[in-house]
Amino acid sequence: MLASLKNVSKVFVNPRTGKGLVALNDVSIQVEQGDFLCLIGPSGCGKSTTLNLLAGFELPSEGEVLFKGKPITGPSPERGVVFQEFSLYPWMNVLQNVAFSVRSGNRSEREEIARKHLGLVGLLDFAHAMPNELSGGMKQRVAIARTLAMDPDLLLMDEPFGSLDEQTRRKLDNEVLSLWKGQGKTVVFVTHSIEEALMLGTRVVLMSASPGRINQEWKIDLPWPRDPLSPEMTALKKDIVKSLQVCSCANGASQGGFITISGSEE
Ligand code: ADP
Repeated sequence: MLASLKNVSKVFVNPRTGKGLVALNDVSIQVEQGDFLCLIGPSGCGKSTTLNLLAGFELPSEGEVLFKGKPITGPSPERGVVFQEFSLYPWMNVLQNVAFSVRSGNRSEREEIARKHLGLVGLLDFAHAMPNELSGGMKQRVAIARTLAMDPDLLLMDEPFGSLDEQTRRKLDNEVLSLWKGQGKTVVFVTHSIEEALMLGTRVVLMSASPGRINQEWKIDLPWPRDPLSPEMTALKKDIVKSLQVCSCANGASQGGFITISGSEE
C-alpha cells in the first residue's frame, strides 16, 4: 500500500471562538500503488482536507496518515500537488517554472528534465513564454509538468480543472489519464463532478458531510476511453446519485453542499 488514512479525524479550531469544526470523522482510505482514486462528495465534506493530509499540509487530530508505511509529518516532493488555482511564479518563464521543481542536477540538467516534462504536456514550444501569455488550460498544463518534474510517487490533484471550460477540462482529463498510464503514477483526484470521476477513476470514493466521512466506494473496471453514455456508465452514475441523495438527506440538504451530476460546471 502506498498511502493510507487510518481512522482519521480532523478538527479545525476557530482561534477566535475556541469552537471546533469536525471536518473529518473516522475516515479510513487505502491508496494502492497505481490507483487513480477519485474523491467526490458535496462541498464541505472534507475532500480537500483529505488531500491536504496526504500532502502533509495538515496533520490529523486523531488517527494516522501514512505514506509508504511511515507517518506523514509535512510536505514532500514524493507527494506532488496540483491545485485548482494556477500557481505559477509570474516572474519566471515556463521552462524556469518547471526547472525550479527538479530536485537534482545542475542548471542545464534541470532544464533538460523540465523540457522533457513540458514535452509530455505538449508545451515545449512555449518554454520561453511568461505565465501571463498563457491560457488557463496551458497554465494548468505547466503546473502539471512542474509537479511531474518533481518525480512524485503520488500525485494529488484538487479540482485541477475546476475553473476551466468544459471542453478544455475534458482535454486535460484525457492528458492526465495518459500521463498516469505512461508514467506509472498513483493519483488521488478531487472533483465534485460524478462524470469526471467516472471517466477517469479506477476507484470512486463518495464522501458525505457534517462531519466528513466515507460513504461508499465503487471500483471501476471499465477500459478507457470511457463512453459517458454507455449502459455501464449510466448505471454507475445512477447508483452514485442515489447514494448521494441518501447521504444528503441524512445530513440535511441545508448544508449548502453541491455536486455536479452531468459533468458540467455548477
Ligand atoms: P471540500 O473540499 O469537500 O469542499 P473541505 O475539506 O475544504 O471540504 O472542508 C471541510 C470542512 O472543513 C468545511 O466545513 C471547511 O469550512 C472546513 N475547513 C477546511 N479547512 C479549514 C481550515 N483551515 N480552517 C477551518 N476550517 C476549515
